[in-house]
Amino acid sequence: MADIVIRDVTKTYPGGRSPATDNVSLTVADGEFLVLVGPSGCGKTTLLRMVAGLDTPDAGSISIGGRDVTWLSARDRHVSMVFQSYAIFPHLRVRQNIGFGLRMRKAPPEQIEQRVRWAAEILELSDLLDRYPAQLSGGQRQRVAVARAIVVDAGVLLMDEPLSNLDALLRLQFRAELKKIVRQIGTTTLYVTHDQAEAMSLGDRIAVMRAGRIAQIGSPLQVYDRPRERFVGGFLGTPPMNFFSADLRCSASGAHLRVGDQLLTAPDQLGAFDQRPVVVGVRAENIDVAKAPADGRIRARVEVVEPTGASMLLTVRLGEYELKVQAPPNFDVAPGQDVWLRCAPESLRCFDPETALALVA
Ligand code: ATP
Repeated sequence: MADIVIRDVTKTYPGGRSPATDNVSLTVADGEFLVLVGPSGCGKTTLLRMVAGLDTPDAGSISIGGRDVTWLSARDRHVSMVFQSYAIFPHLRVRQNIGFGLRMRKAPPEQIEQRVRWAAEILELSDLLDRYPAQLSGGQRQRVAVARAIVVDAGVLLMDEPLSNLDALLRLQFRAELKKIVRQIGTTTLYVTHDQAEAMSLGDRIAVMRAGRIAQIGSPLQVYDRPRERFVGGFLGTPPMNFFSADLRCSASGAHLRVGDQLLTAPDQLGAFDQRPVVVGVRAENIDVAKAPADGRIRARVEVVEPTGASMLLTVRLGEYELKVQAPPNFDVAPGQDVWLRCAPESLRCFDPETALALVA
């Protein structure tokens, strides 16, 4: 059993104006793959370093596998780490690089050899064990770094942007490999990235951080579909969630959102917020676009048309707002033309304009 329990952890660096992590509580279940994601400077690495034992919190506690490790040195925590700079030793062969941590722990040579072969097999490095790092591709070096981390058989695996040195294509390929490997070894994993697509793809759950605190935690689809605050909707997704202001009007005929002089059908559960100004959030793929007007559709003007292959990404103007709309790949429309939009009411998310929190959880 190696869960990670972080309780009320606060850390302010000397001279820091605000805490790098601010009263953060988080549990990573045994065997779970949890991704910390958020914009640069939000405190992800600080939190990971405190779990690793490379930094200490000002307040709060961290336990791993039921043991309070808050004040233990990194060496005594039984964690394995892979960092952005994967730092494999250039003068050691792949075999020695992978076995390095085990040698440091004075494991018997036959056990080291057996573990190295096991990790090399999983990471498809078996034919490269006698090479030096300079004779490897970037992706292979990254795999050596991961192999070195998993041979140690630690209770938890901590990774900080381990794919950031790879080019876009390798990164995509290795992301899928990494997901397979971590599932196979079943180690509790805490993974840091600023790349929201990577977070969505890898995590059993993702924790979206902002300014030292956790804005939302949940399964990738849950967080993507039901952001608890506007920031989360605007951070996740390519393109991010669209936002525009509207007024809510509820009557016997149902709830509506007044956008300029047009009306959109709103989700029924917003009845309690009648007469309120709201910020509406909607994803590009939840907007249905047509070239002709129809009941229940609102007019917008096409500004940009971008074929992506799988779809046609439109930028349309709705009053003072620009929205991204995902149309079918063969949707034939030109800038300057009018289109008519409809959103299923259940796909609309409404936020309080002042607090930026979702009105309905
Ligand atoms: P990135 O994605 O850019 O790595 P991050 O989310 O991992 O960012 P942290 O590295 O945890 O963010 O930094 C959080 C805050 O703490 C930032 O404001 C940063 O400037 C500050 N910080 C980080 N390390 C130190 C340090 N050693 N001394 C002082 N301030 C620091």
